[in-house]
Amino acid sequence: MPRFRSILDTMPPYRPGKAVAAADGRSYKLSSNESPYDPLPSVVEAVAAGARQVNRYPDPAAVALTEAIAERFGVPAGHVALGAGSVTVAQQLFETVGEPGVEVVYAWRSFEAYPLLADLAGATSVRVPLAGEDHDLDAMAEAINDRTRMVFVCNPNNPTGTAIRRAELEAFLDRVPGDVLVVLDEAYREYVRDEDVPDGLTLYRDRPNVCVLRTFSKAYGLAGLRVGYLIGHEPVAEAVRKTMVPFAVNHLAQVAAVASLRAEGELLERVERVVKERTRVREALLAQGWTVPPTEANFVWLRLGERTLDFAAACAVEGVAVRPFAGEGARISIGDPEANDAFLTAAAAFRAQL
Ligand code: PMP
Repeated sequence: MPRFRSILDTMPPYRPGKAVAAADGRSYKLSSNESPYDPLPSVVEAVAAGARQVNRYPDPAAVALTEAIAERFGVPAGHVALGAGSVTVAQQLFETVGEPGVEVVYAWRSFEAYPLLADLAGATSVRVPLAGEDHDLDAMAEAINDRTRMVFVCNPNNPTGTAIRRAELEAFLDRVPGDVLVVLDEAYREYVRDEDVPDGLTLYRDRPNVCVLRTFSKAYGLAGLRVGYLIGHEPVAEAVRKTMVPFAVNHLAQVAAVASLRAEGELLERVERVVKERTRVREALLAQGWTVPPTEANFVWLRLGERTLDFAAACAVEGVAVRPFAGEGARISIGDPEANDAFLTAAAAFRAQL
């Protein structure tokens, strides 16, 4: 028998969202916070053209994409580091600090990958319970000690959808020692409409220990191609580049991301439609009698406790896959109007039999 690292015995598996189907074949996948729209024709064309070069390795430095991101956000190209999805950039970040004895602080519940990545990197997770559905930044600041090397702040938070406002986040950043890296995970930034929720890029500029994590998977609709990025000061970006597996961001992902930035206007119109649907779904749930935390992301969160798995099963009857967290609650992505209606039908039926 081959022998593996003992940490693997205790690591929970990552549970990806799965599709389900109703008896009549209807199937709506609202479990992975994806874009409900087909890829834009211009992006499909760029990928088709790129396919003609896949006998060659991709550009290892992804120069065109790095420069396109830098230009889009008005940052130096040296501040940009890429990875195969932002979860891989997060993994690279854990690799930059992870060693025995090192602690990484994050809220819990938050993005499911954080504990996995901490375990893999040999770092110790310090999970700070949410206060209600929100980050407890006071408790997170208090959890920082001499062993802390990194703090993840997921804003808006996955899976609760709640977002931290500027004054509170700035006060927190002021309390974090300069040798602790703060990662603002903004996978859902494009869906934020509350103007008090700061864009992390306005916060990192004056703070060498703060960086921002973003992705092409959600608003830009490229989940299947795996490309994400970090924007941070040169030493942070450089450390992340060093931990990248060579050629991790493939050629098709690079060309699709560049094409998506070119078509950003169209993509952001789609985001706007999702945001409108988010408002409609949340209001309908409230009218049904649910408690729904305000959400700034492309999903809603229902705290269901022991009823969570029953709720997911009731949604599956309508062909709707949601993301259940057993004993806690369910996260439901905002899809197109038909999918959202199917979900609201399931939610109303479940509510009626409580
Ligand atoms: N951060 C957060 C908060 C997420 O919810 C996700 C995706 N579920 C990611 C990062 C990773 O996304 P990707 O790897 O597709 O960029």
